[in-house]
Amino acid sequence: MQIPVDLGAFLAFLAGLAAVILFGLQAWYDRRDVLLSDHRRINSAFSCVRCSLTYVRPRRREEAVCPRCGWNNVRLKF
Ligand SMILES: [Zn+2]
Repeated sequence: MQIPVDLGAFLAFLAGLAAVILFGLQAWYDRRDVLLSDHRRINSAFSCVRCSLTYVRPRRREEAVCPRCGWNNVRLKF
């Protein structure tokens, strides 16, 4: 036995479901973009004062050793 469903109500339900899914996807992608940009931002950039090599180290740190000459440099601040 089938339950009679109003076509208009069914279409409204489908439209609501589609809207919820779209909003959910948008929120998910926004959150992912924020997480990715945070991940990029917490890298630290260095410029060697001895051999002028520019290099990047992961995470926030104040000092890092130059991979070419071994000089200990302080982080670049923008
Ligand atoms: Zn160096």
